[in-house]
Amino acid sequence: MNIQKTIAQLRDELHQHNYNYYVLDAPTISDFEFDQLLDKLQRLEKEHPEFSDDNSPTQRVGGAVTKNFETVTHKNRMYSLSNSYSKEDLLDWEGRIKKLVDGEVHYTCELKYDGASINLTYKDGFLHSAVTRGDGEKGDDVTANVKTIKSVPLKLSGDFPKEFEIRGEIILPIDGFNKMNEERLEIGEEPYRNPRNTASGSLKLQDSAEVAKRPLECLLYSIKSDNLNADNQFESLQKARNWGFKVPNEAKLVRNIDEVLSYIAFWDKQRHYLPYEIDGVVVKVNSFTQQDELGFTAKSPRWAMAYKFKSEQVSTLLNAITYQVGRTGAITPVANLEPVELAGTIVKRASLHNADIIEKLDVRVGDSVFVEKGGEIIPKIIAVDFTKRLPNSSPTQYLTHCPECDTRLVRVEGEAQHYCPNYNGCKPQIIGRIQHFISRKAMDIDGLGAETVTLLVNAGLISNYSDLFDLTKEQVIPLERMADKSAENLINGIEASKSIPFERVLFALGIRYVGETVAKKLVKHYKNIDAIAQSSYEELKNVDEIGEKIAESVKVFFESEENQNILRRLRSFGVKLEIDESELVNQTEKLKGKTFVVSGVFENISRNELKKLIEDNGGKVASSISSKTSYVVAGSDMGPSKRTKAESLNIPIISEIDFLNKLV
Ligand code: AMP
Ligand code: ZN
Repeated sequence: MNIQKTIAQLRDELHQHNYNYYVLDAPTISDFEFDQLLDKLQRLEKEHPEFSDDNSPTQRVGGAVTKNFETVTHKNRMYSLSNSYSKEDLLDWEGRIKKLVDGEVHYTCELKYDGASINLTYKDGFLHSAVTRGDGEKGDDVTANVKTIKSVPLKLSGDFPKEFEIRGEIILPIDGFNKMNEERLEIGEEPYRNPRNTASGSLKLQDSAEVAKRPLECLLYSIKSDNLNADNQFESLQKARNWGFKVPNEAKLVRNIDEVLSYIAFWDKQRHYLPYEIDGVVVKVNSFTQQDELGFTAKSPRWAMAYKFKSEQVSTLLNAITYQVGRTGAITPVANLEPVELAGTIVKRASLHNADIIEKLDVRVGDSVFVEKGGEIIPKIIAVDFTKRLPNSSPTQYLTHCPECDTRLVRVEGEAQHYCPNYNGCKPQIIGRIQHFISRKAMDIDGLGAETVTLLVNAGLISNYSDLFDLTKEQVIPLERMADKSAENLINGIEASKSIPFERVLFALGIRYVGETVAKKLVKHYKNIDAIAQSSYEELKNVDEIGEKIAESVKVFFESEENQNILRRLRSFGVKLEIDESELVNQTEKLKGKTFVVSGVFENISRNELKKLIEDNGGKVASSISSKTSYVVAGSDMGPSKRTKAESLNIPIISEIDFLNKLV
């Protein structure tokens, strides 16, 4: 077969698998097989640039950098929606409609997805452009970024019009949002506030490869076309689904306002179980003929109405404001509330984020406050009920000294958070840093848990992570709940961690903004800790993916004399502070992009050696089998449930010999 045909075929296959996975949520091949197809396509496209195509599935990974987004005039204006908040509002609306159109009116009820609106244009079945709503007349062209969103079809199937626009909402599902925040917290960054702003912020990122990493989705709700071949909204949604768009199945066709109200009541309760946030329901007159008769006001269609849910809100008393000190020294003010029920749970605390928020809300102890549960993980205070303010109250004075160590707090220009700068003497920072050091992704010290770290610090046995390495069994036995055996495990676990590779040690040090990925980059570039420590700010900044903030933070870390002492101690105990020469020799990228699950007992090699081989050769080791697994490496005694799982997902099960052969 000729190359051009092969390429076209691969693209079609990949479009289809992408659709199965991201739109239907029903993949028919494993991620590994998918990656193989994609690899193959990528290779062919590289070898044959003459067949390149902007809508190839390989474009999903992004890479285009946009400095200024071009402003584009919408072909059809993007209107807002009128809002309603009650049954009466909806009945009034129905009354107005009935005066303007004849006959029965049916409605399509849809969820009101809470994200950023987007207008997609398709030409000849291919995505042509993606433009934000902007002011409704003109928006920003964010095509490169939107292309990376996997549920946006780059190529359509079925009987689509030659050219049309389709509108939808770019959203960030709650799980994905929480995961992004976990990753941020891990490296000492402030979490994102809510999914909606994060979604719309993502569309304006300059580097589309960054957008590709975010788990965004696109939910569609309206087609604009002159030859649609459908005469109502409900049917048009079905059409969009058939062409390959993600259109939630919650949309419902109803016959009157009573049924609209039932739909609203149902989703007002059930929305808490959706994987993404909605802020209401959109009710649309179903018939396009009736829609045309109704037309538009200056701002919005007369044929559609948003019903906004009241975000669940309660009022309660603010008993106190306390302050927490995090691992990085960041201070978080916390509102201690009179316990109150909200969206099915009892709320006692709410985050106040930082000094600016407290000042903006003018919130004071003794106030009655309104608390709301939005996209945030913890509820937030949205306002003070000033009618109930006590006459003698005075503005909240933000904390000036650390609640734990009494050091004067600092606030860096341009940052919202206050910090306790007492890096080596502030207990929560000391404990938090050691807890991070021993954690699974860092030194992974078996037999030592977060609580034991607290006990060790409180008993005065350790005050930084290097102290772990000269602990003795006799010292730890007297600790609470510490039996002879567990003390021994602890000491052995610490000893074993000396073989943890340098990149994980570097991550374990807890340098602000140095997460796992950054640690790997630094290690790859510098090879040993002295080289990192001696590197200048400018040099650091030139390393791939290292920006000003990270470079600055790395400098500060290594300039500290205390840190230098701690590093000297770590070195004297034999903790790895450089790449093993042997590691360098044996490292390849042969398994790049592949994820392995290792199960059973092996003949020629230990499980840990096997895992290390996988990682040294660029692969990933996962603990459980999922559709993301590329191979299961099975020794003797592989569990039957693992086998069944692998088989059901079509994941190849290979032997230790098969595996080793991959590396030669
Ligand atoms: P608003 O921004 O409050 O004026 O509401 C209008 C916005 O709601 C539109 O611009 C859309 O982005 C968004 N929206 C979310 N879901 C839907 C839906 N199912 N139908 C129409 N608009 C929707
Ligand atoms: Zn402190």
